[in-house]
Amino acid sequence: MAIGRVLFTAGSIARRVGELAAEIRRDYAGRPLTIVGVLQGAVTFVADLREGLGPQVAVEFVEASSYGDGTEPQGPVALGQAGGLDLAGRDVLLVDDIVDTGRTLAAVRSEVEAMGPRSVRTCVLLDKPSRRQIAVPLDYCGFVVGNVFVVGYGLDHAGRYRDLPHIARLELAGR
Ligand code: 5GP
Ligand code: MG
Repeated sequence: MAIGRVLFTAGSIARRVGELAAEIRRDYAGRPLTIVGVLQGAVTFVADLREGLGPQVAVEFVEASSYGDGTEPQGPVALGQAGGLDLAGRDVLLVDDIVDTGRTLAAVRSEVEAMGPRSVRTCVLLDKPSRRQIAVPLDYCGFVVGNVFVVGYGLDHAGRYRDLPHIARLELAGR
């Protein structure tokens, strides 16, 4: 297993995140927004996105994990921390690093919907549509990627590579 080709440089990520933030700011037009980020992969993206969103943005995080140390989803999506959240009446923007099968975003979304928010939209940095098992509407999306496992800019493999400033392919034997 090794780091492969760089797919998105730090510069192109910064530019795209800035564009997404501008679009979101326009759409919400000064309405207070609550970002619900999915730990841990979305932390870097949420931090950079928030910078471009201006004031009146609250940030919460939920835990969701299905990958363990592998590169294939393992079992059901485990959610944590959602119990302490109060999202009733709020305009919620769900933010994740990447949507693959769609199971994580769908699971988090249904938990969030159950809390009676005023609205829910989704924002992901990366979309891997070829792997989708559950349809999830994406309101804001940074980039589309093929069927590759990527690391960097907050995305890890077994806890490694999150600190890379760019997004690169992880070369896996047999994929
Ligand atoms: P899904 O539930 O959509 O299959 O998977 C979403 C979660 O799996 C993401 O939040 C992310 O943590 C992880 N994931 C999916 N694809 C990749 C990938 O290519 N690289 C990394 N590092 N994580 C991924
Ligand atoms: Mg994740």
